[in-house]
Amino acid sequence: MKVIEKVDETQIQIVKDYVNHKFKIVEERNAGELEFQQAVKEVFDSLVPVLVKNPVYIKQGILERIVEPERLIHFRVPWVDDEGNVKVNRGFRVQFNSAIGPYKGGLRFHPSVNASIIKFLGFEQILKNSLTGQPIGGGKGGSDFDPKGKSDLEIMRFCQSFMTELSKHIGPDTDVPAGDIGVGAREIGYMFGQYKKLRGAYEAGVLTGKGINYGGSLGRTEATGYGLVYFVDEMLKGKGLSFNNNTVVISGSGNVSIYAMQKAIQLGAKVVACSDSSGYIYHKSGINLDTVKQLKEVESKRISEYVAIHPDAIYVEGCAGIWSLPCDIALPCATQNELDKEAANLLLSNGVKAVGEGANMPSTQEAIDLFIDQGVLFGPAKAANAGGVSVSALEMAQNSARLAWTAQEVDTKLQEIMKNIYRECVKSSEEYGAPGNLVVGANIAGFVKVADAMVSQGVV
Ligand code: GLU
Repeated sequence: MKVIEKVDETQIQIVKDYVNHKFKIVEERNAGELEFQQAVKEVFDSLVPVLVKNPVYIKQGILERIVEPERLIHFRVPWVDDEGNVKVNRGFRVQFNSAIGPYKGGLRFHPSVNASIIKFLGFEQILKNSLTGQPIGGGKGGSDFDPKGKSDLEIMRFCQSFMTELSKHIGPDTDVPAGDIGVGAREIGYMFGQYKKLRGAYEAGVLTGKGINYGGSLGRTEATGYGLVYFVDEMLKGKGLSFNNNTVVISGSGNVSIYAMQKAIQLGAKVVACSDSSGYIYHKSGINLDTVKQLKEVESKRISEYVAIHPDAIYVEGCAGIWSLPCDIALPCATQNELDKEAANLLLSNGVKAVGEGANMPSTQEAIDLFIDQGVLFGPAKAANAGGVSVSALEMAQNSARLAWTAQEVDTKLQEIMKNIYRECVKSSEEYGAPGNLVVGANIAGFVKVADAMVSQGVV
């Protein structure tokens, strides 16, 4: 018995050394791309037991291949502002992995966008899309264009210029973009119009997140936020808990945040705080979601305006402090690395029971480690926020079949998908010796399906 244990330990050490070596190469080849390195490191660390059990993945060079995008497209996006000035932004599309389906993933328009951000998002998307159980590969794109303060015509001109180049690389069976930060229904509409004009054909399935009257799916707008709450609800149920009567703090006030608030409130929770990139509001008696929607979705105003309408709420400049507010459930839905070690410690000292990631990679590795060590229920982004891309895949299915499902049909499918993702994560965490650790579970469950497909398809 002792001897067997010794052999196992030696094997584990050999694989650990192998993984560390492969990660070192990733660091060297992607120097300075810290977000991408962070996303890869978390996944690689989870995979040691998988590689011990399946040496074929080592033999087939799956780690080396999965971290190298199949294609990275970087292009110039020139456009003219309302004053007649020529502006130039950078456009990106990473076509990361097509082992299980056409590249699929959103477009982000934000000044912080660069190759590292797009590659981290694209890498996450490979495993997230695999977890959905839908036939979609991993991709991501965007631009360092800042939509804030731009006129509607400027947005249209930018989207048209962006699509003029992007259209050469995408298609319903090759690569299907959608929205992300800074890209919503309006931007998708302008890009779809330009794509259609350039192609001279109505290829509805080339983009998802379209308007309902031209091929969009009911329930897509709500899907990421609703899906997040469905996933966290499954985690809570596993411990005999629920959203009902629990206090929730949600960062962000975009599409993900707003519909997570809506579903959490429907399930009986009290949402007391949300934020935008300038600061956060705290409304102890419960946020009025209609006001947030009016300010953010209709008037495109700052969240600070909320306190003029609800004087018993307070506004605090700066975002990090939102995690100092007492809550049972925390849902980071703003952006990457918004929840660090200090924030995690504050949440823990206030007795947080569950954390569900609505944004992509919103918690730092140190914060995740703290939550897991302290036994807090933790739903990692690639599982918990997969509802958006899941319904995007349902939109593709409807476009291919040239029919439209009801909101109820879509929501039922979304609930099934989120429950299934939760079950798969739990199962993989148990199978590979980390019961209840859904970070490990999500990374493994997502990876195995893609890795098996890559093995089957040979070295391509
Ligand atoms: N941007 C979303 C995500 O991070 C959705 C992508 C999509 O629908 O393709 O998953």
